[in-house]
Amino acid sequence: MTITHTADVVIIGGGVAGLSTAMQLAARGASVVVLERERIGNGSTGRAAGLLGQLRGNAEHTRMLIDGVKIVRHLEQQVGVEIFVQTGSLRIAETQERAEEIAALVDMGKSIGFAIDHLQPAEVHRLLPYMRTDDLLGACYCPTDGHVQPAELVSAYLKIGKQLGVRYMTHTPVTALLIEAGRVRGVRAADSEYHAPVVVNAGGPWSYLNAELADAALPTAAIGHYYLTTRPHPDFPVDRLSPAIRDRHLRLYTRPESGGLIVGIYDFEPEVHDMRRLPVDFDMSRMKAARDSLQVAKLLEAAHARFPWIDQRTPMSITTGIMTFTPDGRPFCGKMPDLDGLYHCSGFSGHGIVQSPTIGLIMSQLILDGASSYDCESIEADRYFDMPGYVERRDIERKCRDMAGNYYGKVERPEPAAQAS
Ligand SMILES: Cc1cc2nc3c(=O)[nH]c(=O)nc-3n(C[C@H](O)[C@H](O)[C@H](O)COP(=O)(O)OP(=O)(O)OC[C@H]3O[C@@H](n4cnc5c(N)ncnc54)[C@H](O)[C@@H]3O)c2cc1C
Repeated sequence: MTITHTADVVIIGGGVAGLSTAMQLAARGASVVVLERERIGNGSTGRAAGLLGQLRGNAEHTRMLIDGVKIVRHLEQQVGVEIFVQTGSLRIAETQERAEEIAALVDMGKSIGFAIDHLQPAEVHRLLPYMRTDDLLGACYCPTDGHVQPAELVSAYLKIGKQLGVRYMTHTPVTALLIEAGRVRGVRAADSEYHAPVVVNAGGPWSYLNAELADAALPTAAIGHYYLTTRPHPDFPVDRLSPAIRDRHLRLYTRPESGGLIVGIYDFEPEVHDMRRLPVDFDMSRMKAARDSLQVAKLLEAAHARFPWIDQRTPMSITTGIMTFTPDGRPFCGKMPDLDGLYHCSGFSGHGIVQSPTIGLIMSQLILDGASSYDCESIEADRYFDMPGYVERRDIERKCRDMAGNYYGKVERPEPAAQAS
């Protein structure tokens, strides 16, 4: 017998994207059900390092992240827990090209009133005595950056969502979309149907499979990612408020963690995962990185180059997980033109934790108002709709993998301030 449930909105996926969207919708009075295949926050969300750098290559994306911090600060007040740790962040340059990139970013940031300034290598050394600085040409410092604690963010979304009446169903994989006369009417999961005029695909790395339930091609790919976490080192203590670092030349990012250091790498040849081959109860938190793998070797080599005290013998753990990349590194938020009622909210390309506060707000506006107060052109879900080269899985995976591989490698050309505002 099929059990039928009804709601205004059904959300597929209990990661930060689905949870934030659910909370914002419920805050405006919508009845919302979140359906999660496994446990809440157990997809990419549970693996994230949580780095939050607000300055992006264009002003609208920067505004989204600045506003995201305000939302997080409000959540902290509501739940009484620290979610955002404001450590500040540095971008460092060891090549002329990178120094020019940083100079352009400082100009762009200042033009929109964002707190950012140049820093001389000597000052960098004073701030970060555990980092090699003798090869640096320059750096910039953003004092209002830091990191979000993903588990605390998930708990806050969940706690407030529950207070607002959101229903969360775990161990409930969605296996079909109910479609009638060109529009979505709900979903099927196990022996139940969830009827709703709006369904949100917030399935993270699985989102392209969810789109296929509607015979649609969502151009995302599931990309492997690695970081290490050192234990506290007696000679190189890392203060909990030490600034995060981005070293795009070495493709590294870092942040403090419990007296040690998280060091992650955007590898130029990342793995692509086929989500269809994973078991239905796949648990991302159980993924183990092989210590003798090429990916770990590259991570250790780059980490050692910047932090010479980190090597094979350093006590550390290695974390691996799966991110969702798109061909241009920007998420997909909104509908496709050929199917009413189905909204996509996916493809956060390594930044879903920090984007989620504002993305939840944007999704609630798109669903309830039909438009957002943010300029969403660059994140519209249909920007590759039916475009040759963005339909076949093989083409999509190649493009997304190239994007992920070049993510830190490419030198950014921030948009000039005149266009950016
Ligand atoms: C190692 C690593 C480090 C990272 N570091 C950072 C960082 O420093 N900063 C940052 O901002 N981001 C970081 N990220 C990226 C961030 O984790 C993701 O962008 C974010 O968690 C995406 O959230 P999501 O809700 O879209 O996806 P997910 O968290 O993957 O959630 C999607 C959920 O949907 C569920 N689902 C899918 N299909 C179905 C279905 N059919 N039925 C029911 N449930 C379904 C899945 O089980 C999953 O729980 C990192 C990611 C990894 C892997």
